[in-house]
Amino acid sequence: MHLLEKIGFGFERMVRLMSDSAELMLLASDDPASLEMTADEMRALGDDVLGRIVEHVAGIGRQPVRGDVAAEDLCRSLRESAPERGEPAADVLGPLFDEWIPRSFTTPSPGYLAYIPGGGLFPAAVADFISAATNRYTGVWLAAPALVQIEANVLEWFRTWMGFPGSTRGLLTTGGSMAAFNAILCARERHLGRDVRPGVLYTSTHVHHSVVKAARLAGIFEDRVRHIPVDADFRMRVDALEAAVRADRAAGLRPFMVASSAGTTNTGAVDPLDQIADLCAAEGLWHHVDGAYGAFFHICEDLRPLLPALSRADSLTLDPHKGLFLPYGTGALLVRDGAALRAVHGMSAGYLPGTPDPDEFYDPSQYGPELSRGFPGLRIWLCLKLFGAARFRAALAEKRALAVQAAARIGALPGVMMVAPPQLSLFAFHLTWPGATMEEENGATSALLERVTVRGRVMLTGCTVDGRFLGRVCVLSFRTRQAQIDACVDDVAAEAAGLLVGRG
Ligand SMILES: *Cc1c(COP(=O)(O)O)cnc(C)c1O
Repeated sequence: MHLLEKIGFGFERMVRLMSDSAELMLLASDDPASLEMTADEMRALGDDVLGRIVEHVAGIGRQPVRGDVAAEDLCRSLRESAPERGEPAADVLGPLFDEWIPRSFTTPSPGYLAYIPGGGLFPAAVADFISAATNRYTGVWLAAPALVQIEANVLEWFRTWMGFPGSTRGLLTTGGSMAAFNAILCARERHLGRDVRPGVLYTSTHVHHSVVKAARLAGIFEDRVRHIPVDADFRMRVDALEAAVRADRAAGLRPFMVASSAGTTNTGAVDPLDQIADLCAAEGLWHHVDGAYGAFFHICEDLRPLLPALSRADSLTLDPHKGLFLPYGTGALLVRDGAALRAVHGMSAGYLPGTPDPDEFYDPSQYGPELSRGFPGLRIWLCLKLFGAARFRAALAEKRALAVQAAARIGALPGVMMVAPPQLSLFAFHLTWPGATMEEENGATSALLERVTVRGRVMLTGCTVDGRFLGRVCVLSFRTRQAQIDACVDDVAAEAAGLLVGRG
């Protein structure tokens, strides 16, 4: 069939399109070397995908919150060699949407209260589509100055919200892990230079493992990472930190950095950031705060006291894909003395264009390890422009309030011991009964989470702290509202009662 017939062009339309985009018309799909699509083909593919996405998102609350993930056989059946010829879109997209996407944890579900929930705001998906389809180069300022400025604006918004000074520079990353990595590089370069081995990093026993991994990537190996014990509220003990620093100095080592947590993954604990900041100032240590889970609560003025002295940190990990409800792959780092970040990453080459004034105009490749990259700033920018910051503050305040309410109700259930009430929007508990051993309680608590999750309305996961298994509830999905909290409390109450029958 002739191409024009196939795609149903009227004469007028053809003329208009020819003058609009002459190159599209030249690229008939019977040209074997062409990878271009016609305007109508683009529209057809886009409409197909958009239809599937809207249907998927609209039905997300009806899917079981933990999909069927026992999928070894499915994975084996998916292995194939690279296709030699293209296939129709429907054949490719059908199984993706109908079979494979649902075989996952339903992380965008309103009932997802597991781990640290992520988000997935729709405008961010649209932003990614725009970024990829227009494919401009945001690695260096000169190639897309206005787009890079948009990204600089986002970092500037983060800086103001976190109360950091004007000297701050930052970096958008793929997540908290990469933010921590770049923070440790800054501290290492600033405090140790090339003499890396004697450097010692301090963190708590409850730190996220990604910080330890980031340290290793930055050349600070496990034998130079001190895990400081925590107090009864799972916060880093500053007296123990001070003693550890003293002991290492006495042993001829060089303490250079403390990585504290503004919300741990286990129990949501916020380390005593103010006292740690004081100690770091007195001892000349770099203070990094891992705010991957908790830092965005700082944008709510009422909640700021929960994160005291966050603004005094030398560097701060943010995870917009958690606390700002963005899709996975959106992290950020702020560094108080932006020159430190630039000192690590700044570099020139004969083929690289510079910026007119590096102090005024941000250039991502001078502040981060990557050159070519996507355009993560557009995701954040578009969501904030379309919703406005006030809506994010209201959403975060609501998640915190829901967590406080859920903890009060679950904590009041017979047989529930609330071990970690919410410091932010996460709490942890276990089942208990008279005469129970810890092992028996661990088994019952673990069974409770499984039974609640199998009911399909909410998904819960736990953690083990000093041999004790804890159930956790973390409220951070933008879709979690009162209805899911009610479902969570009801399902926990029913299953806990069932598990406690005949015990104690
Ligand atoms: C999620 C998380 C991280 C790791 O961040 P990624 O975005 O998964 O790389 C680090 N610290 C805490 C407290 C977290 O919750």
